[in-house]
Amino acid sequence: MKPATITEASCADDYDPNSMPVDKARAFIHRFLDPVTATLRVPIRTALGRVLAEDVVSPVNVPAHRNSAMDGWALRAADLAPQGETTLEEVGASFAGRPFAGAIGPGQCVRIMTGGVVPEGADAVVMQERVRADGRRIAIPAGQRAGQNVREAGEDLGKGAVALARGRIVRPAELGLVASLGIGEVAVFRPLRVAFFSTGDELKSVGSLLGEGEIYDSNRYTLHGMLTRLGCEVLDMGVVRDDPALLEAAFRTAGASADVVITSGGVSVGEADFVKSMLERLGEVVFWKIAMKPGRPLAYGRIGAAHFFGLPGNPVSVMVTFYQFVRDALLTLMGADPVAPVPTFPATLAARVKKAPGRTEFQRGVLVRGGDGEWTVRPTGDQGSGILKSMSEANCFIVLGESVGNVEPGARVEVQLLEGLV
Ligand code: AMP
Ligand code: MG
Repeated sequence: MKPATITEASCADDYDPNSMPVDKARAFIHRFLDPVTATLRVPIRTALGRVLAEDVVSPVNVPAHRNSAMDGWALRAADLAPQGETTLEEVGASFAGRPFAGAIGPGQCVRIMTGGVVPEGADAVVMQERVRADGRRIAIPAGQRAGQNVREAGEDLGKGAVALARGRIVRPAELGLVASLGIGEVAVFRPLRVAFFSTGDELKSVGSLLGEGEIYDSNRYTLHGMLTRLGCEVLDMGVVRDDPALLEAAFRTAGASADVVITSGGVSVGEADFVKSMLERLGEVVFWKIAMKPGRPLAYGRIGAAHFFGLPGNPVSVMVTFYQFVRDALLTLMGADPVAPVPTFPATLAARVKKAPGRTEFQRGVLVRGGDGEWTVRPTGDQGSGILKSMSEANCFIVLGESVGNVEPGARVEVQLLEGLV
């Protein structure tokens, strides 16, 4: 059952907000996700990366006709002698798009190409490599079975069957599949609107000069990239200084204009109290210290009707928490079904990793395939959570479970591939 409010659920929760396990936090968030319901009909190309809002039902049989899987001759299997060769008479041809008109009778066969319609009367195709042809006299060896090399109409997909279910993310294969059914438009869920801003007095936007102790805001760029790849409509609200009035105004605007609000910074101890009391006026929010590294502080809640994710300020933490919590929450809100966390795969560790038990670590790794065919992974250099270069060099996360300590070379570890992630 869905709990009434986030605050109520967090009170009932028997987990310590000061040490929240990764999967518990993820499960908590998923209890409150209400996918978008508005849909629109779009030309199929526009549907790329969107989520289907209705089943795509096949209006036709696929394949449409009984056709040949091989280049060869179509024949009646019963005409063949049980032993030795049988010579049949070729009475015509069936090429893809140019069927043989009429049926074949006893002792007859038809030259056929892959995809060609199998003529009426024929029930098997013999591949051309097995046949001796002498003009129209075609010698076929024994041992051919009825049905061989014949693709039945509707074998891949019957008329009226669900070709793609509602909730499916449209990839290139889905575009082709829909087109193969002769369908030009599909219903998709409207894109999710995601507003985001960075918080911090030290932050400057690209294009302005840095003063003493200031740094450029990079989180809005990684967020822009991750959200755009996911197919969200982004609303970049810039940098907001650590000033209660400015922050409150930004939260109000974001909450009123988007389905989801994402901020970075301002959730660590010290800053959190101030943001916390403000958000309690605008909505509801829970602050966790996740038992993970990087990405320890995380806030989740609502601002008005919008979902809110308060990510840590550190640039690597933003990316790690986005992939571990925000990505699958957004996919769910987009209407995707099923949604799973980023999958993990085993690989062999090539270098020692240092780790303290008690929290899940997402180290940045480089996964390579050795000469022996084994996938091995090594951490990128320095793992500091402010070092974006470590993310840029990495092609995977090395996921080290809560109970694990230092890990020695040769051990099997789990990795999450970053390539291909939406
Ligand atoms: P905070 O969570 O606000 O305490 O920030 C943690 C660290 O991340 C600090 O060193 C910040 O300067 C840095 N940081 C916060 N926001 C950003 C940002 N948008 N871009 C780059 N660094 C940031
Ligand atoms: Mg800050």
